[in-house]
This record gives sequence, structure tokens and C-alpha cells, in this order.
Amino acid sequence: MSNLDTVLKDLVIANRILAKEEVVDAYGHISIRNPDNPKHFFLARSVAPELVERDDIVELGLDGQPVREEKRALYLERFIHAAIYEARPDIQAVVHAHAEDILPFGIAQATPLRPVIHSGSFIGANVPVWDIADKFGDTNLLVTNMAQGRDLAKCLANNNVALMRGHGFASAARSLIEVVRLSVYLPRNARALMRAKMLGGKIKYLSKGEIDARNKGYSPYSTETWRAWEYWANKAGIGHLLTRPDGRPVHTGKHDHKHDH
Ligand SMILES: [Zn+2]
Repeated sequence: MSNLDTVLKDLVIANRILAKEEVVDAYGHISIRNPDNPKHFFLARSVAPELVERDDIVELGLDGQPVREEKRALYLERFIHAAIYEARPDIQAVVHAHAEDILPFGIAQATPLRPVIHSGSFIGANVPVWDIADKFGDTNLLVTNMAQGRDLAKCLANNNVALMRGHGFASAARSLIEVVRLSVYLPRNARALMRAKMLGGKIKYLSKGEIDARNKGYSPYSTETWRAWEYWANKAGIGHLLTRPDGRPVHTGKHDHKHDH
């Protein structure tokens, strides 16, 4: 059995980080698979990520429905998460967001969104674009049922991110820290690429070898990875919820608040 308390606390932290880093606003969400039951996952009820508390988190099944009686409204687009967990047993955490900087790359597909900066390497060498209209015609562009979610998951295939035309993106990773990092650096990579395009000339993307070299050196609780998680959590004012699985000390960031005065 894993420590569910820590899992849920980490999910609260992840919500706050994505809000603080402006990956999500009133909309967008992040989920984590239940480590004790791979057919379930945890996702907040319908509330802005910046406001998510532990009690807002609901356990859902791979059909996108709550596993216990739930009277509170849920995210309409929870099927994105359900369908990705269903299709990808390797995936432990999923983000869906509408970050503005990635949107042009789902609309103007002549310039593919691929890694151009080292921190963007985790988005992967290929970022497919899913267009809901291809299969479902004129919709309100939201993923509101399993059929749409499964079509998106099929487009995502074994990649880390899929752009959603005129809407946003879905990202998936082996851990919560990874999906947060990937989702924070995705819009930054998009901004760097957009600006490079403005300077003109040929775009130099990261090579396959460079992307592989960065992935090879990765581990979810390495000093380097933890440094970002700890920094983001404290910046989002939620450092007191941090738990390190290896029991090493954590900066709770209490002294950091002095800077706010
Ligand atoms: Zn959406």
C-alpha cells in the first residue's frame, strides 16, 4: 500500500503549481492514478486549480465516473484523463490545460511544436495535433464523453503531449512531478520557438540524440528534479505540504513569506 495521504497532498501541490505558473487558470486540471488501484484515478471536483484543497479531490473510474456517490459538480472534461489512463497503463499522471502560448501550434500546423530548449526536451520528439472535428464534426470543442477521450488518447499514442486544435493540450507522464514539469516547460518551449520564428531563418530543433540524452539522466526524485518541485511548491505558497518519499529534509519555505512584506 502506498501512502494515499501523501499522494493526495502531492496532487494539491501540483494543482497550485500549475495555477501559479499560469499553465491553468479557472480551467484546466491535473490527475494522478490511484497507486493502489490502477483502475481508479484522483481528480478535483469542478473548481479552479488554484483553489483545490484535499477535500475537493474525487476518486474516478476509467469510465470517467465517480466511484462513490458524489453530489458535487465534476469537470466536464474528466474523460480526457479516464481515456488516457485506460489506453496507457504506463501513465501515472495527466494534465489538461489551455495554456495560450501553445495554441498557435495547434492551429497553424506548418510549424510543428517540438523541443527547441533543453527544458523542453521532456515534451518528446513528436507532439501530435488532435482535431476533434476530424471525427466528431462541429462540437463545442470540449471532450465531454469517453468516445472523444479515446480518440484523443489514440492520437496521443505513445507520445507525452498532444495538442488539441483550437483548445489546449493533454500531457501524460510516469509521475506527478514529471507531468507538472513537462506542462510548465511546454508553454515556455512554445514561446521560445515562436520568438525564434520571428527572428527568421531555419529553426534548429533539439536533435533526437539530445532529447534522448536528457531523458537518460532523469529520475523523479533526483536532486535536480526535487529542486524544481520544492521551488515551485514554495512559490505557490504550499511548501508546508511537501513530503519527500526518501525522508530527506524539505524546505517548507516559511521564511520565504518574509519577502512578501
Ligand atoms: Zn479543455
